[in-house]
This record gives sequence, structure tokens and C-alpha cells, in this order.
Amino acid sequence: MKLHEYQAKQVFADAGVPTPDSQLASDVDGVVTAAEEIGYPVAVKAQVQVGGRGKAGGIKLVEDDDEAREAAESILGMDLKGYHVDRVLVEEAVDFTDELYVGITMDRGEGKPVAMVSTKGGVNIEEVAEEDPDAIAREHIDPAFGMHPYQARKAVYDAGVDQSVARDVSSVLTTLYQLWDDKDGADAEINPLMVTSDDEVIAADAVMNIDEDALFRQPELAEMEEEAAGGDELEQKADEYGFDYVRLEGNTGIIGNGAGLVMTTLDLVDYYGGEPANFLDVGGGAKADRIANALDMVFSDDNVESVVFNIFGGITRGDEVAKGINEALEQFDEIPKPVVVRLAGTNWEEGMEILNEDLVTVEQTLEDAVQRAVEYAEEVSE
Ligand code: GDP
Ligand code: MN
Repeated sequence: MKLHEYQAKQVFADAGVPTPDSQLASDVDGVVTAAEEIGYPVAVKAQVQVGGRGKAGGIKLVEDDDEAREAAESILGMDLKGYHVDRVLVEEAVDFTDELYVGITMDRGEGKPVAMVSTKGGVNIEEVAEEDPDAIAREHIDPAFGMHPYQARKAVYDAGVDQSVARDVSSVLTTLYQLWDDKDGADAEINPLMVTSDDEVIAADAVMNIDEDALFRQPELAEMEEEAAGGDELEQKADEYGFDYVRLEGNTGIIGNGAGLVMTTLDLVDYYGGEPANFLDVGGGAKADRIANALDMVFSDDNVESVVFNIFGGITRGDEVAKGINEALEQFDEIPKPVVVRLAGTNWEEGMEILNEDLVTVEQTLEDAVQRAVEYAEEVSE
């Protein structure tokens, strides 16, 4: 579960991490009022859960009411990497000299959390990790003992953070680990942690992802999740239909029955050079109406250019699925996006016969089905 930036900042600020003064706004007048209260210059920042908002036009620095209005008009309602922006954070702009990165995540290879610090903040840290891995200092933490103060200092020193702010950065890192631990974090990250000309540090961005399975013991965060999910219509729809659904950023829609099967399909889409648009598990025993709901979900995603169905019949019977697909598609005068189907398992042959090949492309193997769907998606994107 991902918190929005404004929520993560609240959590960080409550724990004592310095954050800029800010207010949430959902309309143009609200942005201008907030900006006046905070005092120019301010940053207007789209609240959607994707990285790289700056580059995508979702963050604007403004100096006066006119600019604030203009920024609000362009950002509110925009489509940012497939997400509709309905709220912005209006935030005191930081006059910075340096941008650092600090983060805590789980290192699955080591089976331990790892604290990371870098002086190459403000850019995508995955890119830094790839191009210049030495630019990130890492310190593994024994969860039984927590992060020792010397470990925080060592990570900060190893990263080459300037002496003048080393203490403050260590303290932010220690707090970040505490939060990660107390709140069942999956990742906690500040990028950038800005350094100002008077040697202060301030969290200009905030990421906090929570382990979903621990939400039952984090009622405050669970409440934030509800608030956050309110922003995404597709996630809401998935809740209504009772699907396990995760929206991703690609253009190949994926539907399957069973989490493992869906994950495999995702991997194959990636393997064949495509980009998955979602994870959607219709579950076991899926009947025709459930299949139709699943199709409605992926068709409602503007990013989707093609759809691949991967069904392995067990309790879910191939002929039921086929009927569901036909029924769902017969409602359209024109099929919104090409659909490729692969059926296996119980009653797959009956299913194949039932499928209306005027409406869908049928493939015998999963590999062929995925490749076909990826091709369809590419054709549209060209
Ligand atoms: P992200 O692109 O979605 O990760 O959003 P960030 O909040 O990290 O902002 C992207 C970049 O905007 C930062 O790394 C800065 O380089 C730049 N920026 C410039 N001035 C400001 C400012 O006053 N506040 C913030 N938050 N970002 C600023
Ligand atoms: Mn950032």
C-alpha cells in the first residue's frame, strides 16, 4: 500500500523530520489561497502515486498568483502517466544547494533491511544504482537490534555527505528507520532530502509504502489508504467487483485466474518486450459475469491497448469463461481493444469452440497469446 506524498510527509513530520510548510488543494482558487498563505515562491505538486512527476510536468514552481493559477489549471485534471490528477500539494519552495537521497528498504538477498544514503538525490535512484552503484552507501540493519547510531553516521560518512549537515542527515535516517520499523514499512524514502544554504536539511519529497498484510495493526494508515484509494476510479471499481487488482503503467491489459498465473503472464509480457498495464486476478470458479466485469475493468483503463486472457481451468471451467468473454464483447458495436485468449485445463476444448473468433484472437499456447497481445499493443502505440 502506497501513501500519497502529502500523507507520507505528514507521517514523517509527526516523527520529527523537517518538511516544508504545505497545504492540499483540489481546485484553482484553493491553490492560490494556499500559496498566498504559505508565501511565494511555492511548488505546486500533483498528488499521484508515480515517480518522476517533475519531468512529466506534474510539478511547477511559481512566484505569484498568476503563475499559481496557471500551474493549477495545467496540473489539476491532467493525465500523468495514466493517473488523473485531482489534488495538488502547494508547498513552500526550498532554496537548496544540494539534493540528497535517504531510504530504507528490505534487501531480500540479505534478508535484512538496508539503509541507503546518496549525495545524488533528486534523480531516479534506480538509475543511480545502475549507472554508479558506488554513489549509494548501504548499511544493513539487524532488525532485532534496530539501527545503531554509528550505523547511521557510517552510511552518511560513506556517502560523502558534507560535514556541516552530517548530524542532521544521520538523525533523519535514524527516524526513517524507526518509522519503517514501527509502521510496517516496505519502503520509506526521501528523495530529495534538500540541503539549504544555511545548512539545514528538509524533506522535499516523501515515499512510504506499507506492507498490506500488516494494515490490520496500523489503523491510522489503513484510514489513509481509504482516502488515497478514493483518488483512483479503477482501484475503486476493483474493490466493488472484489478483484485482486494492481494498476501498473504499461499498455497490455492482463486477466487471469490465480495469482501465480497472472504473475507468470506479467513476466511473459515483459519478456516479449511489452509492458503490463495491470495485475488482475479473477479468482477461482469465475463465472461468466465475473469475466465480463474483468473485461470492463481493463477496458476502462485508458492506457490499455490490448488484452490477454490467461485462464487455466480447474473449478473455473473453460466453457464458462468463453461464454463470459463472448457475452461481454457482444455488447459492443466495435471491440474497444483487441483481446487475445488462451484457455487450458478443464473444458478448454469446449471453451475454444464457444469463443467467437470474430471478437477475439484465440491462441493455443500462452507464449503465442502473450506475443500476439504485445504486438497488438505495439501497433497501436506506433
Ligand atoms: P518526483 O519527481 O515525483 O520525485 O517529485 P519531487 O518532489 O522529488 O520533485 C522533483 C524535483 O523538483 C526535485 O528533485 C527538485 O530538483 C525540483 N524542485 C525544485 N525546487 C523545488 C522545491 O522547492 N520543492 C520541491 N519539492 N522540488 C523542487
Ligand atoms: Mn522525488
